[in-house]
Amino acid sequence: MEIRHRIIEGHRKRVVATAGLLAHGRGEAFDYLIGEETNGWARKAAKAAVAAMLIAEHPVISVNGNACALVADDLVKLSRITGAPLEINLFYYHQEREDAILAALREVGAETVLGTADRPSTTIPELSSNRRKVDPDGIGRADLVLVPLEDGDRTEALRRIGKRVVTIDLNPMSRTAITAHITVVDNIVRALPLMVSIARELRGRTRADLERIVDEFDNESNLRGALEAIMDNLRSHAEGLDTQPDVALVAGEK
Ligand code: ATP
Ligand code: MG
Repeated sequence: MEIRHRIIEGHRKRVVATAGLLAHGRGEAFDYLIGEETNGWARKAAKAAVAAMLIAEHPVISVNGNACALVADDLVKLSRITGAPLEINLFYYHQEREDAILAALREVGAETVLGTADRPSTTIPELSSNRRKVDPDGIGRADLVLVPLEDGDRTEALRRIGKRVVTIDLNPMSRTAITAHITVVDNIVRALPLMVSIARELRGRTRADLERIVDEFDNESNLRGALEAIMDNLRSHAEGLDTQPDVALVAGEK
């Protein structure tokens, strides 16, 4: 409930687009299916994601309205620990939304924020209108981009131009989840704090150690694991139905 409140409040402050409310609802449904907790697959993916960010030359964290409304504080922390700048990147661009997100990030201590209208911009090919604009000092030159809750078109475009893509997405079947190199199938409200604590633990490790963590990760098995976890949950719900007392009989009805 508290999470829903954050999204609604974000919408009221113009941080979250109306379509962002719908995207959140889709996320909630998948969160229910994964059991509303971080499973072992997500933990492994989060570790690989952070290791990849620490190895990258120019990692960048892309921020949209939903991510900002839910975990602004942890985005700033992860940015500091990994040295990956924050870049505002909106699917539904509005100057008002950009200003609201910038203010919310600043409120929790963000210093440099890329991707704002006063900054230079370059474009990613194959995407239309505002959605193709990126910051030349951010996503433009990044070798790795963390794009939580991203749309499939953009994820595909980022891969086509050779970026390493890391995402957080509750739906293991979304195009983003399938297209990314590393997909953390978990709610961003749990995944981000976890990634912050993993980053604190991993930052002292050698490059060889970090590379091993990334090399051992396989996104296809990860997504298969996430789907199996959902199917196990569904099966145990179905089995639970068999052992439930008949509600109508208990209530004395026919
Ligand atoms: P795609 O375009 O990748 O196929 P989509 O069109 O189904 O995905 P979008 O609205 O483009 O969905 O992207 C939003 C994604 O973010 C969805 O997959 C949704 O499940 C996920 N999502 C929403 N809220 C959260 C959250 N709190 N944590 C993690 N993922 C979330
Ligand atoms: Mg989409």
